[in-house]
Parts: sequence; structure tokens; C-alpha cells
Amino acid sequence: MSPDHGPLLYEGKAKRIFAADKAEQVIVEFKDDATAFNALKKSQLEGKGKLNCQISACLFEMIEALGVRTHYLGIADENWMVAERVKVIPLEIVLRNIATGSLCKETPIDPGTELKPPLLDIYFKDDGLADPLLTDARLELLGLVSAEQRIEIETISRRVNELLKGFFEKVDLLLVDFKLELGINQLGELLVADEISPDTCRIWDMRTNDPENRILDKDRFRKDLGRVVDSYAEIHKRVQGISSKPRNYS
Ligand code: UDP
Repeated sequence: MSPDHGPLLYEGKAKRIFAADKAEQVIVEFKDDATAFNALKKSQLEGKGKLNCQISACLFEMIEALGVRTHYLGIADENWMVAERVKVIPLEIVLRNIATGSLCKETPIDPGTELKPPLLDIYFKDDGLADPLLTDARLELLGLVSAEQRIEIETISRRVNELLKGFFEKVDLLLVDFKLELGINQLGELLVADEISPDTCRIWDMRTNDPENRILDKDRFRKDLGRVVDSYAEIHKRVQGISSKPRNYS
């Protein structure tokens, strides 16, 4: 069921953002569409939108409770979330605890290497440019954030990593890496935005060592491993075990 909403403001690969009654809010629909490799690979995964919405809601509430500001306000329906309206900064902040993915394609670092301290990579969010990795100098050149905001973004992202890692460990899940997006609200405050879900995190099941079976995130889709939605449901089940039911927002 779709809640009451205003006009479509933006459509991304996995979500649609609609205007809400209140100008300072938006209503986010999580879609079942799955894409990978800059949308070269596409599919529909029934039930994914609902799971990503519910997992994100739980995780947003858990980090908020520990002092991290997010755009999340509450759930409007199974796959619908109400959020504070923010101007999303076109940067993808990737935190890596274990080396895998693009880091191992672009450097000689062995897959599985533990990264201490966690590695923070900043990419420019631009599909046309295939989200290039930025150097500090290029980030400064682009002028998207001030020097103070750059430091705040790093502090928030590292804090979110430590919190998420801790939550997941409690239910035998290993947070390998994940991507964050941040936005600025009408008061000029930096908030964690977008989603935190198996679409944007790599999460391994610590209850098995099997290199394929332990993968519970979007890599199952990227690598054609099957059981994608089942794995997202397993993450949801475990996260529910350490969180309260996400609040409704109306
Ligand atoms: N990621 C994401 N959106 C992107 C790129 C990466 O959510 O556009 C997430 C990805 O799911 C993983 C982490 O960021 O958890 C690091 O991804 P990586 O740089 O290794 O890229 P990939 O191997 O996915 O191309």
C-alpha cells in the first residue's frame, strides 16, 4: 500500500523520493529493482524493497539512539519511509574493515586482509563518470564540502562504522564494508541520509566459513549466487533480534 504522498521529486536505481505534506519532509519508496555494475546488470527481486526499508529503519534508529543524526523519521508502510528533506552531498563515503571488491581490483592488497584502522574512501557520486575515487586534492578542487565538513563527514562515518560493526557482531554478522551518503538539512546540519541495507553494505555470516555461503549482501546478486532475498531476510531476522520494531510515522 502506498501512503499519501506528493509529486515524485527524484527517482534513483533502488528508491523513489516523493514530496510530503510538510515541506521539510520526503517520503521514500524502496523499490524491488536491483542493479549492479553501474546499472549494466538489472533485475527485479520481489521483497527486496521491503527488507531494505525495514533493515535501514532498524539501523537508523539504533545509530540515532547512540547520537548519530540521520534523515530518518519513521516508517510509513512496509517499503515506505518518511525522512527529513536534505540536500544530498554527491559523495559516496566507503568504509572498509576487510579488503575486497574494488580495493582488491585496484591495489595489490589481498582479499580478506583486515584493515586497521578501517579504510575510508570517498567517491564522487556521478553515474556518468562511473563514481570515480577522489583524492583529497580533487575533493578540495570540487568544492562540494568545506574543510570542516570534510572532517565532520569522516568523524561521523567512522563512528557509524564502529556502531554498525558492534551491532552486527552481536548476531554473528561481519561488516566487511559499506557506503554512506550524507545530506545537509534546512538548518545546515549534516545528517546520514540514503539507506543502510544489504544493497549498500557487505555483510558476511560468521556462522559459516564457506566463501560463497557466508555472503548475505548484494554480492549474491552481483556474482549470481542466488538466494538474494532470502539472505536479506536472514539479515533482517538477525537485526530484529537486537532492535525494537521501527516506529511508525504519520
Ligand atoms: N557501494 C554502494 N554503492 C556504490 C558503490 C559501492 O553501495 O555505488 C558499496 C558496496 O555495496 C560495498 C562498498 O560500497 O559494500 C564498497 O564497494 P566497492 O568500492 O568495493 O565497489 P564494488 O566492488 O561494489 O564495485
